Amino acid sequence: MLRIARVVPEVSLDRAFDYGIPEEMATQVALGAKVRVSFKSREIVGYVVEFPTEPFKGRLKPILEVLGPGSFLPAILIELAQWMAQYYCAPLTVALMSVLPKAVRKADAAFKQKLWVEPLTAVLPEEVATVLKKARAQRAAWEYIQQHGPGWLAELSQASGCSPMAWRGLAERNLVSIQSRTQDRDPFLNTPVVESLPHEINAEQKTALDIVYEEMRAEKARVVLLHGVTGSGKTEVYLQAIAHVLSLGKSALVLVPEIALTPQTVERFRARFIGQKIGVAVLHSHLSSGERHDQWQHIRSGHARIVIGARSAVFAPLKNLGVIVVDEEHEHSYKQEESPHYHARDVAVMRGHLEKVTVILGSATPSLESYHHAQEGKYRFAEVKQRVEEGQMPTTHILDIRTANKKGAPPVLVAPRLIEAIQARLDCHEQAIIFLNRRGYASSLQCPQCGYVEMCPNCSVALTFHRRAEKLRCHLCDFSSGVPHACPECGFAPYKYGGSGTEKVEQALAEAFPKARLARMDSDNMRGKDAYARTLGEFAEGKIDLLVGTQMIAKGLHFPRVTCVGVINADLALQIPDFRASERVFQLLMQVSGRSGRGRVRGEVFVQTRVPFHPAIQFARHHDYTGFAEQELEFRRSLHYPPYERFVLVTARGRNEKKTLFVIEQLAKEMERLGLPETEITGPSPAPIARIEERYRFQIFLRTRRIMLVTPRLRPLFMDRAWPDDIRITIDVDPVDLL
Ligand code: ADP
Ligand code: ZN
Repeated sequence: MLRIARVVPEVSLDRAFDYGIPEEMATQVALGAKVRVSFKSREIVGYVVEFPTEPFKGRLKPILEVLGPGSFLPAILIELAQWMAQYYCAPLTVALMSVLPKAVRKADAAFKQKLWVEPLTAVLPEEVATVLKKARAQRAAWEYIQQHGPGWLAELSQASGCSPMAWRGLAERNLVSIQSRTQDRDPFLNTPVVESLPHEINAEQKTALDIVYEEMRAEKARVVLLHGVTGSGKTEVYLQAIAHVLSLGKSALVLVPEIALTPQTVERFRARFIGQKIGVAVLHSHLSSGERHDQWQHIRSGHARIVIGARSAVFAPLKNLGVIVVDEEHEHSYKQEESPHYHARDVAVMRGHLEKVTVILGSATPSLESYHHAQEGKYRFAEVKQRVEEGQMPTTHILDIRTANKKGAPPVLVAPRLIEAIQARLDCHEQAIIFLNRRGYASSLQCPQCGYVEMCPNCSVALTFHRRAEKLRCHLCDFSSGVPHACPECGFAPYKYGGSGTEKVEQALAEAFPKARLARMDSDNMRGKDAYARTLGEFAEGKIDLLVGTQMIAKGLHFPRVTCVGVINADLALQIPDFRASERVFQLLMQVSGRSGRGRVRGEVFVQTRVPFHPAIQFARHHDYTGFAEQELEFRRSLHYPPYERFVLVTARGRNEKKTLFVIEQLAKEMERLGLPETEITGPSPAPIARIEERYRFQIFLRTRRIMLVTPRLRPLFMDRAWPDDIRITIDVDPVDLL
């Protein structure tokens, strides 16, 4: 029987077609091979992504040619895409698009060729010197390159002010050579680094590393969960594990959350391996298409053997992988919000399984999913408890904001205790960070007489008042409008501002500390690409005393002079209707504590709340991850929440409320009819945010003990379906966002 190859066209990847494999190509057509096939009346290039086993009806066209030896895409990555497609209920073609970025597939994707000029001699022969005296442009160019060294023709011309003509003149006289060369669009090419040497590891780090090595040698490598507070030396463990696999000639993949992918992080890795001339490639969402192409090709060719990247780097085409590290594994930014809704940590674990390599998951606050696996013995558990430097964990004070409020007076925004603490720190020329996870000035505008609230016309949420911009804005759809001065319903004036945002805190702090240098950081005023880096740079240099901001500044930053951290309203995140609310608040408070006192002076953290005895707050106060995890797991177990059972969230969105509901009701019936084992289906019901961008939203909630059996059976309900009108249906397996 003729073997069949399923091929997706390179240009779009959105559909797959079957071709026959001619006898003489049988050994060459591997998974991931790049092939030429005829398609309609043309010839196109595509990738082999599957070998279907079901017999094909009708006549099959043959593959015309296999392009290049072996697989273009590592076969493992295709297997990974196949797994993703099954597990996350996505079309294989959509999964493949994640694996093979557009920048690499584009027809004109190639390394850039540019002209490179290099001097051929340092001394001018006498007769040439005389000639050059007259050819002034050429002489200037010659002098320029003698002084500044070789470079790209375009750049040399610009910098020296000598035209390309002049350079070509020199080339004709054999004084310089001009050659076409590949220009590497490496975003870090021009950032010099100083080599760093491995630290002498401490006992805890050694134990952790030994566990990693044990798993590396094991027949079936298990995932290692590395728990350790910020500054406990986890990165050093990663670096040494990576050094080890590199010494075996293998490669390493490091995932970090996008926000942590700062030049400092990358520099730490480059600095450690620069002495061995091992290339480090970086993949993140801000790369230009050209940069992405070049990085990808360097990885595929084996030129770069370490990859550091955000979520999508989990698909980096590394060969001969030796270890995968997922830092801050609990971060929700690892979850992809579009289809396929994959979780990069879980994909990393799967990739590790397919490639038989050790995966290290690191965090100061491991996700309860990972911690549960460790408890069950499915993962290995390693712990680094002590901070490496003498730095102690900060003292955490819980401020019950209810007692700070006085009857009849407007509620206190920043408690007097926190104001005093900031003042004391500023007096010693130390720095403070104040968090509030809500931007704008006031989170709602409400009429005190009739209760009318200004709502977004497109979404079912209140509009936020932005004082500086003098606008009401929707934080979901970006709708904005002017600020009415009286209630449009009853005419009452003035309006009442409810719920404070960062702008208001900034204002309050500016009044309390008129002499302090104050800056605010949130996505309203950090829109420019460099604004973020610039403000943090100024803070690091001590040009700013007090920094106010959203979560944006909570993560991964290291400022030794910050000794006071304030959290204005820890309750905000607790009120979100999501079973992970406590976990998130705990993680945030732990992160935030990690920011204080990283230098010599012991830090302080102040947490303002109305629920001072909430477990998330109390456990965070005592820096007690284990205590929190055990209590929270108990709670999850009793309520049948993840990690004990798994969720699948199906959402329908549409402009017409009735039609949308009707469609999802039909879908719910189809799901019921599958008779899935140990599975409970609830809904459809309106989503917690019932309307966004003019679209009504309904959800079906599925919980199951048998996720591996359930998703392959659900999947066909969602494949190749045309939903009526503008109704969009999404399916999210293991959702992190339930709103
Ligand atoms: P984490 O990744 O857990 O935040 P790091 O690995 O970044 O911790 O370590 C914190 C600091 O301590 C870094 O400056 C690192 O260079 C240093 N460090 C790590 N391990 C050691 C060690 N064994 N001896 C001395 N310094 C170390
Ligand atoms: Zn809106």
